[in-house]
Order: sequence, then structure tokens, then C-alpha cells
Amino acid sequence: MIGEQLPGQLLAAIQQVLSNPTDFTALHEPLFEGNEWSYVKDCLETGWVSSVGQYVDQFERNLAEYTGSPHAIAVMNGTAALHICLLLAGVKPNDEVLMPSLTFIATANAVAYCGAIPHLIDVSNDTLGVDPDKLEQYLNDIVQFGTDGYAYNRQTGRRLMAVIPMHTFGHPVELDKLMRVCEKYHLEMIEDAAESLGSFYRGRHTGTFGKLGAISFNGNKVITTGGGGAILAADEATARMAKHLTTTAKLPHRWSYQHDQTAYNYRMPNLNAALGCAQLEQLPSFLNRKRRLSMRYKEAFSHINGIQWFEEQEHVTSNYWLNALLLDEPDEGLLNRMLEITNDAGIMTRPIWTPMHRLSMFSQSPRMELTVTEQLEFRIINIPSGSRLFDE
Ligand SMILES: *Cc1c(COP(=O)(O)O)cnc(C)c1O
Repeated sequence: MIGEQLPGQLLAAIQQVLSNPTDFTALHEPLFEGNEWSYVKDCLETGWVSSVGQYVDQFERNLAEYTGSPHAIAVMNGTAALHICLLLAGVKPNDEVLMPSLTFIATANAVAYCGAIPHLIDVSNDTLGVDPDKLEQYLNDIVQFGTDGYAYNRQTGRRLMAVIPMHTFGHPVELDKLMRVCEKYHLEMIEDAAESLGSFYRGRHTGTFGKLGAISFNGNKVITTGGGGAILAADEATARMAKHLTTTAKLPHRWSYQHDQTAYNYRMPNLNAALGCAQLEQLPSFLNRKRRLSMRYKEAFSHINGIQWFEEQEHVTSNYWLNALLLDEPDEGLLNRMLEITNDAGIMTRPIWTPMHRLSMFSQSPRMELTVTEQLEFRIINIPSGSRLFDE
């Protein structure tokens, strides 16, 4: 039986790929081989450690340049970035925001922070992200346009304001198709590009297709600032407002404390931005190493029956943030045995997130039928993917 051999074969294949076996291999460890020490030391020596400083400005400029986004605003984490993106897209309390059920909790939390309601949609087996064809059919059934021009959910009467595609493990969703669906139904598109720094769709960086996109620099992401995030904004007015809202909405003045609305202290400290500047310099080399590690996994798993290594689509470049293996068939028992044997051996592996509709806070959220999501929950296993794992 395939199922009996698989856990052992999986462990052997991963061990074969990892070039420097240690007692414990994390899912995605950070790597600091560049100017991190020198930039952080500079912050300490000059005293510029906190909410303003040259590294914040430099990090924002470098991010904008790398992603091709006209503007980038550094913030304290990816969840905060998403929250501000949604506010700036005009999401209001009691709106519904379409988003995949198969995502990290941050996507749904950001919607909830706005007082809005996540409306959970299914994903595609090809990208592991939002399935635009299925979404279009679904919207066709449930949407009624209001006199204000917005799409309304005829079942709940609530406005459908936006869609949040999430690029799972760094693999871009079908953005061309999705943008057409957004246009047809007058929806804003906010990309949760938290996992996809360094991922491109038809040559264009993820997070730059909608009006706004969010990136994360958490410790386990492709590059890290300790904790951190960024908002990518397409136009200047939106970018200015993003800065304003993340810096307590203070009006510039030499001494006076004037704030023109209730806003947030979401800014990224200079100390973290210093780390970010150094990490961003190494991004191309990280991506190269991650891709080559992935190719080794691909080869190592090509001979094993019952499991496939998840590969990028032809017209995209994935950052391969987390390598994913897919069981041919959903099998919770087998998946658990695979997780057990690898974690027991000091190799950190993880299942995909519990889908949002199975968490108590979102179990009552409106949703389409989620066949693919429910299958993927018991098919996916993530394996160690950090840049440091690839050595010549
Ligand atoms: C990492 C991540 C975020 C943001 O996380 P933070 O820890 O707040 O930086 C958001 N969405 C997804 C899908 C993520 O993986």
C-alpha cells in the first residue's frame, strides 16, 4: 500500500535534499549574511532607533524600486498593512469582503478589524489561491447591483466591496482573470502579497495589480525585519493617506500636536527598517538559493508515488517561499503520520492552515461551496524552505 511507505519515503527524500543536517531544521529560518550588523549598529550609534530615521525612507524607496510599485509604506507588520489597505479601499463596517477560506488568519482578522465580514471563497488546485472562474460563476448567482453602482449580496443584503486574493506560499493567483471579474462586479482588489515578495505574474510583481497590496517581513518570510510589513500603493494620494493613517494622522508642524482623525501607530521603527535594507540587498541571492533548493526537492520527490511537489505555473515566477507537497488524495491519517515522522526526526513540517470557515469566529461567515479548500486541507504538507538550506 502506498500509504504505508509514504511517511518513510518522505523523510528520506527530505533528508537527502538538506545539505547540512542539524538536530533541528525549521520551516523557514532567517539568514543574516549581509549588512545587517553594520546598519543596526549605525542605528544604535546615532540613536535613531524608533519611529523616524533614514532607514525607513531608504527601505521604502528600495521596496518600491524592487517591486516596481510607485509607492511603498513600511509598517509594523503585514496584518497592519492589510488593515490599512482595506480602509483605504473604502471597506466600511457591515460590508462583505471576498477572500479565500484557505489563508492565514491575518487576512480574515484584517477584514474583521474594519467591522466588515469575510465572505469565504474557494481556491484553485492550480495556484492554491482564489479561483477566478468559480468566483465569477458564484457572483453571477448572488450579485444584485444597487442604484449606487455597487454589487450587493442578494442573500444578505450587504455590499460586496472588495476581493483579497492571497498568493499562497508565494504562488501567484490568476491575476488577469481575477482583475476582469473585479471590473465586472465593481470590486476593489487588495492583494495579500504577504508571502510573495519576489513573486511575479507575467513579469509584474505581485501586490502591484490592485490599488493596494500588503507584504509581510515576519521572521519566517522571504526576508525579515524582525516584525514588519509594507503597503504597496498605486497612486500618490493613496500612498500619502497610507502614511498619514499609519502615523497617527498627525499634521506636519514644528511643534503643535494636531491630528485630523482617529488613526493608528502602525509605523515601522528605524531599527527594523535597517534590518530590512540589509535583507533586501540579499533578496536576489535568497530567491536564487530557494529556487535551487526547490529544484532539488522536485527531483527527490519525482520518484515517489502518491505525492506531488507543487510547481509554479508557466507564466509566473514564484519565490517558492514554502515548498509544498500534495497528497494525490485527501487523507488526514496519512498526513498526520507524515507530520509525525518528520517532526520526530527534527525536520519541521506543517499542514496548511485550518480553513477560516472551520474556525469559530468565521464559521457563520457567508461562503460559497468550498470543495477544493476542504480537499486541500488534508492534502498539503509544507517542508523546510529557508535560503540557508541550499548550499553549493
Ligand atoms: C504572514 C502573513 C500575513 C501577515 O503577517 P504578519 O505576521 O502580521 O506580518 C498576512 N497574510 C498571510 C497570508 C501571511 O502569510
